[in-house]
Amino acid sequence: MLDYFLTDEQCAIRDLARSIADNEVRPVAAEYDRTGEFPWPIVRKLAEADLFSVFVDDAYGGVAGDSRTMNMVLVTEELSKACGGIALAFAGSALGALPIILGGSDEQKRRFLPAVASGQRLAAFALTEPQAGSDAAGIRTAAVRDGDHYVLNGTKIWITGGGEAEVYTVVVMTNPAKGPRGSSVIIVEKDTPGFTFGKKEDKMGIRASATRELIFEDCRVPAENLIGREGTGFITAMRTFDASRPGVAAQAVGIAQGALDLAVDYAITRRQFGSPVSSFQGLRFVLADMAMRVEAARALVYATARYVDSNPRERPTIYSAMSKCFAGDMAMQVTTDAVQVFGGYGYMRDYPIEKYMRDAKITQIYEGTNQIQREEISKILIGEHVAGHARAAHERL
Ligand SMILES: Cc1cc2nc3c(=O)[nH]c(=O)nc-3n(C[C@H](O)[C@H](O)[C@H](O)COP(=O)(O)OP(=O)(O)OC[C@H]3O[C@@H](n4cnc5c(N)ncnc54)[C@H](O)[C@@H]3O)c2cc1C
Repeated sequence: MLDYFLTDEQCAIRDLARSIADNEVRPVAAEYDRTGEFPWPIVRKLAEADLFSVFVDDAYGGVAGDSRTMNMVLVTEELSKACGGIALAFAGSALGALPIILGGSDEQKRRFLPAVASGQRLAAFALTEPQAGSDAAGIRTAAVRDGDHYVLNGTKIWITGGGEAEVYTVVVMTNPAKGPRGSSVIIVEKDTPGFTFGKKEDKMGIRASATRELIFEDCRVPAENLIGREGTGFITAMRTFDASRPGVAAQAVGIAQGALDLAVDYAITRRQFGSPVSSFQGLRFVLADMAMRVEAARALVYATARYVDSNPRERPTIYSAMSKCFAGDMAMQVTTDAVQVFGGYGYMRDYPIEKYMRDAKITQIYEGTNQIQREEISKILIGEHVAGHARAAHERL
């Protein structure tokens, strides 16, 4: 196995997550996929093992140290090897807590983070609306100041953890006339009057993850729940994605590794023409390509996670986007190839492999589609080149 120079603490976190994935998640993954129920018993096991604390700062009940992103990546990858949907109960809470971790006041962190770190409460992040997906600046959910409260009206869709989580970081418009500069993030607790949930989505994959609509109707939220200042909502959301996209990438790596392991096992046991199908070069090369892709994605994701953790003042946008996009595309290709290795059996629900392909697809879609990641990567790439040319021209003057 390649040495990624993990610390002893990181190895311990990874091994703990791996043992829960093997002993608790894998045996129930197919059943949760079938029923679409939320995996509360597993969430409790993760909480008992203190795994929700790995992404929360030490001062607020966590053990993140200076390794928050890497810890989150390692746990997400291990859980995703066994089930990409169940893994999201963990990763979705990290996503929901990130706006508080990155932009919250000390008072907000003290109020909300210890319960998230202990796994007593899950968090969720709410940006998307029916008319505003990739074009997030088009959100309309309004928060109007009324004395010492904000009054929220609007609808969010497809919110991971919706209905199950208790702490929601919601991106709203506090001054629609200013466009993205008029947006803010507000923390809304479940059970706040005027805050209800719409239908639970019936999804292609990651079916153990709850995806629901959030509905705000004259929902009064204390003004002290505003994260940062009014108008900083999009900055907080973008910083959140910078830190969370390596988590989606880790989900993709875990799903792909899980599928690769199953494919190799199958190829050495399935016999055709009197030999294991793993003896045929045409299939061996498919497995070799799958393994190369998984390892290349893992290396990029770990390097990005380390960069995010060790450069808190830098914007890691380009690397986070590369990780998410590369690993998501890789997972789709590797899981599709894994189904191919299983032949007709791969197409059948009786076998575990088709679930990996269904679970992989979402990693190309959420937290910004892979088209949007390519937009961001190319914008930064070209912008840096243009700036470099301008600097060189200035120096020549
Ligand atoms: C299971 C699931 C869970 C989710 N969880 C959450 C969550 O927890 N919180 C949350 O806020 N949101 C969540 N989302 C929403 C998700 O982030 C959005 O679906 C995603 O950002 C894409 O938006 P859209 O679906 O409206 O697609 P659209 O924006 O309508 O895009 C449609 C197509 O057009 C392409 N496209 C759009 N704009 C461009 C462009 N400029 N250049 C090139 N191509 C473009 C897209 O790539 C896509 O292929 C979730 C979605 C799903 C399916």
